[in-house]
Amino acid sequence: MNVLDNQQVNLQPLKQNLLGMTLQDLEAFFIESGEKAFRASQVMKWLHQMLATDFDAMTNISKSLRETLKQTACIDVPAIVFDQTSSDGTRKWVMQLDAGNKIETVYIPESGRGTLCISSQVGCALDCSFCSTARQGFSRNLTAAEIVAQVFVASILLGKEHRDERKITNIVLMGMGEPLLNYDNVLKAITIFMEDNAYGLSKRRVTLSTSGVIPKLDLLGQQSDVALAVSLHAVSDAVRDSLVPINQKYPLKELMASCRQYINNQTAKSHITFEYVMLNGVNDSRQDAVKLVKLLKGIPAKVNLIPFNPFPDSGYDCSPMSVIKEFKELLMQAGLVATIRKTRGEDIDAACGQLVGKVEDKSRREKKFQDLRYGMS
Ligand code: SF4
Repeated sequence: MNVLDNQQVNLQPLKQNLLGMTLQDLEAFFIESGEKAFRASQVMKWLHQMLATDFDAMTNISKSLRETLKQTACIDVPAIVFDQTSSDGTRKWVMQLDAGNKIETVYIPESGRGTLCISSQVGCALDCSFCSTARQGFSRNLTAAEIVAQVFVASILLGKEHRDERKITNIVLMGMGEPLLNYDNVLKAITIFMEDNAYGLSKRRVTLSTSGVIPKLDLLGQQSDVALAVSLHAVSDAVRDSLVPINQKYPLKELMASCRQYINNQTAKSHITFEYVMLNGVNDSRQDAVKLVKLLKGIPAKVNLIPFNPFPDSGYDCSPMSVIKEFKELLMQAGLVATIRKTRGEDIDAACGQLVGKVEDKSRREKKFQDLRYGMS
C-alpha cells in the first residue's frame, strides 16, 4: 500500500459500533443523521432483545436507512477462541478482541437464575497477590461496545440451545480488570444493561465488583445505583496492603467510609457484598472473623467467603473447609449474612483469570510447532 492508499483509508469515516451506545447516544446518532429519535429504541431492541447481527434483519426500518447504517455503523463482536461447558453447566469463553488481546467471560447457571461474569479490562494493573489475572499485567481498557458485546454474544450462544427462556438474569463485573479504572465505558455498559429497550435488568441484578478505587467509587454512588461488591479480603491494612496493593493508596478506614456513603446515597434499601478469599494462615483466624464483624458494623452487608482456587506459584493455600465453615459461623453468630461461594466449572479450568493464559500458551505452542515445521524457528 502506498502513501496515497493510506491517506484514502484514513479518509474513510470510522464506523460506530452500535453495541456500546446508550439510548441517549443512539438518539443523538440518529438525529445527527437526519433521522427521527425514535429509531434509537427500535434499533436498540433489535440489537439487545432480538440479538440481530446484521442490519438487514431490522425489518421495521426502511431499506434506505438500513443501507445508510451499513455505511456508517457496525455490529462488531469478538471472536470466540475457547468455548467449553463444565459438567455442572458452567460455560466459559475466551473472546479475542484484537491481535493479542483476549478476555474471559463465564456463565453460571443456577436454579432460577443465570449469572454472566464479564471482564472490563484486558488484564489488570492492580496486582493483587492472590489473583492469576494480575500475573498477565495490564494491556488496555475495554470499550463500552466490548463490555456489552460479551452479554450480546453470550445471549446468542446460550439462546441457540434455549430459545424459549431468558438465560442471563444477572450480570456481574467480576471478570478480568478493575471496573472503576475503566469508569466511563463501564458506566455506559451498565446503563445499557439496565435500559428497558435493551436488557432491562434491575439494579439488583447488575453488580460491579471493585477492589476499592475510592474517588471513582464515590462518583459511582452519585451517578448510579448498581449493586456493589467490594473485594475486601483482609481486616487490617498490613495484610490488605500485601493482598490488595491498592490498599496502600486507599486504606481500609477510607474504604469503609466510602462504602457507608455509597449505601447512604441509595434511594432504595440495599446492601454491599464483601468478597473475602480464604487463605490458609493469612486472613482466616478467629480473630480475623471478630475484626471483620467490627469493621462492617453499621453497613448493611453480606460476606461472601471464597475458597481460594490455587494456581501455579501463587504462594497461597486455601483454608481448610472446616476453618471456612467456622469463620462463617462466627460471622453469622454476630448477625452478619455470610455465604461460602460454591466452586464452579472446576473441570474446565483451575482459577478465574487463568483461561486466557492457557489459550495463549496453546496458540504459542501451536505457532512454535508450525514455525519448526516450516523452518522459521
Ligand atoms: S483481583 Fe481484581 S483488581 Fe485485583 S488484580 Fe485481580 S482482576 Fe485486578
